[in-house]
This record gives sequence, C-alpha cells and structure tokens, in this order.
Amino acid sequence: MSPADLLARIADLIGPAHVLTDAADMAPFAVEQRRRQASHPAAVLRPADTAQVAAIAALASAAGVPLIPQGGNTGVVGGTVAAADKGAFLLNLGRLNRIRDLDAADYTVTAEAGCILADLQQAAQAADRYFPLSLGSEGTCQLGGNLSSNAGGILTLRYGNARDLVLGLEVVLPDGQVWNGLRRLRKDNTGYDLKHLFLGAEGTLGIITAATLKLFPRPRQVETALIGVASPAAAVALLAQARAGTGDLLSAFELMPRFAIDGARDLLGRDHDPLASPHPWYVLLEVASGIAGPLVRQMVESTLSDAVESGLAQDAVLAESGEQRRRLWQIREGLPEIGRAIDGAVHTDISVPISRIPDFLDRVILALADFMPGLRPYPFGHVGDGNIHCNIARPEAMDKASFLAHAPAITAIIHAEVTRQGGSISAEHGIGNLKVAEMARLKDPVELALMQQMKALLDPAGIMNPGKLLSL
Ligand code: FAD
Repeated sequence: MSPADLLARIADLIGPAHVLTDAADMAPFAVEQRRRQASHPAAVLRPADTAQVAAIAALASAAGVPLIPQGGNTGVVGGTVAAADKGAFLLNLGRLNRIRDLDAADYTVTAEAGCILADLQQAAQAADRYFPLSLGSEGTCQLGGNLSSNAGGILTLRYGNARDLVLGLEVVLPDGQVWNGLRRLRKDNTGYDLKHLFLGAEGTLGIITAATLKLFPRPRQVETALIGVASPAAAVALLAQARAGTGDLLSAFELMPRFAIDGARDLLGRDHDPLASPHPWYVLLEVASGIAGPLVRQMVESTLSDAVESGLAQDAVLAESGEQRRRLWQIREGLPEIGRAIDGAVHTDISVPISRIPDFLDRVILALADFMPGLRPYPFGHVGDGNIHCNIARPEAMDKASFLAHAPAITAIIHAEVTRQGGSISAEHGIGNLKVAEMARLKDPVELALMQQMKALLDPAGIMNPGKLLSL
C-alpha cells in the first residue's frame, strides 16, 4: 500500500480532521523540546481511542511504516523526533485523555495515555487522594510519555519513579493486538511481569494507551526548608540524619550550588536569597505527613537545629507560609531556566549510588577544570535518589558555538567518572535518539543483546520508534 493510500485508509478510520499532513498543521508537533533537532514526520495522526490506535498499528505494520508515539512532547532526549528519511507517522495520543475509573477505596485510578499529568494529580486530589508523580513539565507532559520514559521528578525519594506507581497497563502491540493488562492488583505472581517491558521503553515496543496507577493518602501537612551546606558530602550526611530525624517522612531532598541563587539574580532578575549569608551549596528539603499538627513542624525544627549543631548545616530557613514555600521551590525550579539563559551549556542526567555523589562531584569538577579553565559546573538535582543533572556552563568569555564544539569531550569526561562510580548515564530522561551510541558503548553486552532480542520479538517489522533507545 502506498503511503497516500495508507493515509486515506487511516483518515476513513479516525476522520480526516485528525490526519495532518500540511507542514503548518504538523509544525506544533514536529518540534524538539530543546530546539536542537529538526523533525520531519510524514503525517501526524490523532486517534481518539484504543481501537483506533490498534487499527492504525495494524495498517502501519502491514505497510512497514514507522510510528512514533507522542505525548506532551516535553522529553529532552529527542524521543519523538522523526528522521527525514524514514517517512514515519507521529502518533499523538493527546485525544485519549479520559479518566476511566477512580476508585478511592482501592486507591487506584485508571487513566488514558493522553491525560495531562497535572489533570491526573487534580483528579486524585478531588477524591481526597494523592498521585505523587511530580515534574517541572507536569502542566504539559502526559501519562503515556511519563510511563514510556519512566519519569522521575522531585518526589521519587518517597514514592519511587513512574514505574513504581503502575499496577496495570493497556498496550497496543505493533501488529495491532491489544494487551489488556489493566489489573489493579497489588499482588500478582502469575509469571513474567510484562508491564515492565513497556515502562521506560520509549515507544519502541508498543503504544501504551491506558494505565492503572497507585494512589496514596493525601499529605495534610508539608514543611519545606532551605539549608546552607559546605559541600555535597555534608548534604549526603544530612540526608541520612534528616531521614532518621523526621521518621523517614522526607518527600524531597534537592541539592543546588550557589550558582542557583547568583544565576537567578544575574540572569533571571530574581533577587531572592533567603539565608543571611552565602553558602557554597544548598539543600531544599521537604517533609510531607498524612497527619497535620504541631508535632510535624517540631520534628522538622529539631532536625534542622540538630543539623546546625552537628555542623552539617551552616544555616537554615523553614518556610512560614505557602507563599514562602513557593518562593523556595522557585530557586530550584529556576535552574533549568538559568541553563537556557546561559545559552551554551552541556546537560547531563546521571545517577550514582548516593554515597558516591561527593567523590563523583569532586573528581568531575577537578577533571573539567583540567580540561578547560573557566568552565562553570552547576550540578544540581535529586540527591536523595543519587540523580544529579551535572550541567556545565560555557566559560564567560567563550561564545556558544566554540563551546559546544567541546560538548562531546565534556560529556565523555562526566560519563567516564559515572562509569567508574558504577552509575548510569540516564537517570530519568531516557535515551531517545541522543544517547543511543553512548548507551550501546557502555551497557553490558549481554544486557544489550537481550534488549535487541526483545525488540525483534515484539516488533519484528521494526516499525516502533526506530532509532530510539536502540539503533534498530
Ligand atoms: P513525550 O516527550 O511526548 O515522549 C517521551 C517518550 O515516550 C518518546 O520516546 C515517545 O515516543 C514515548 N511515548 C510517549 N507517549 C507514549 C505512549 N503512549 N506509548 C508509548 N510510548 C510513548 N523528566 C523527569 O523524569 N524528571 C523531571 O523532573 C523532569 N523535569 C522536566 C522539566 C521540564 C521543564 C521539561 C521540559 C522536561 C522535564 N522532564 C523531566 C522530561 C519530560 O518532561 C519527561 O520525560 C516526561 O515524562 C515526558 O512526557 P511527555 O508526555 O512529554 O512525553
């Protein structure tokens, strides 16, 4: 079947208004989040339900036309980019946005792939429940994208990453079969747990159309503190002390360099420095409790004073109001914005065992200073999960293009240290088309071969998001 005939068949199935082929109509879908790659889909398809997705997959598979699933398109590793020579269709799941069922007694919600993450959080809250996946992109990213990239975010320390929140999945396989695995069981030992194949698969094995997710009791009290610390080593020691001191109620524990406060002032025009004097590093700590009352605050206060007394913390401020809490989070959330304002930075998304973070950072910072004087490392991130965005800004005097010519060498220095420390080159963003070669270089060969065999088994026609995650 020619691509034109195929599109005509699909238009009959899902309605011509939902098959976009005009460049202007496709433009909003054919962008790459960091604007570093061009995307050339042959068409954008917008099915309304699982049956339509299944029919499209069956037709595309028979015709050998690649499909690239797309959610909110906020991924940062080129996972939804269409190569110019592949004639791929972007399969946008945004119209599959129904919440099929929310069961407060079971603490579960079954939602379709195109649900926006913030809408899901609100639906849970309306039922006096809590869905704890939380990312800077939550107003735009969609459930299917979150699950396919196994998103992390700021609450992973307490609730795990996206994978840990899933009880069941509905998946359209590349040949159009629908696997209905929407079970809401907490316990089910009836063989291989297939859902984990599709979680984090970045659309290379099938299309997630719906999921049954875990809900939690809603936090009744949240306490947020900003703490000045001397070093990442002090931050890691403080993490253990704060876990113990708060009865393991920590929900977030983020590390930031002083660069966050200076950059917010110099580059974003936000002059907000909540502590009296400057500190080399900061921890943003949050405690969430299902029980409200003075005890929780007292517990956090005594954790902070213990930290200052033991010398792990240099100073600390505990938010007095919702507004102050929001302003503390703004410092952390401003870091990606600062990265954009620098206009010339290398971004990474690494993880190492938590205890190795200090040594990792010490060694990387030294190696980078050796490589190029004037580089400005600003590592930050979810230190409670061992996940650091070890980002490096260009030297002030160097222009963007000359600096970016060194990006592969800078990344190689960071990844070499990650490997030495037993870490991962992608903690939460995934592989996309950006890190395919690097993952192949560093993965255990047996593991890589198994991944390739699974791909060949589930997607023999090779139509699912080719060139992403694996070079197939
Ligand atoms: P998309 O970008 O549309 O797709 C991502 C991948 O999933 C692609 O490979 C795509 O093909 C595949 N896919 C999408 N939908 C489906 C489906 N239904 N079935 C099968 N495959 C599918 N990420 C984090 O992990 N933690 C963070 O803290 C974080 N913060 C961010 C902050 C900002 C400001 C931005 C812009 C991004 C951030 N991200 C973060 C990255 C991104 O938001 C996440 O990866 C998110 O989960 C992607 O969801 P999406 O719907 O936008 O997916």
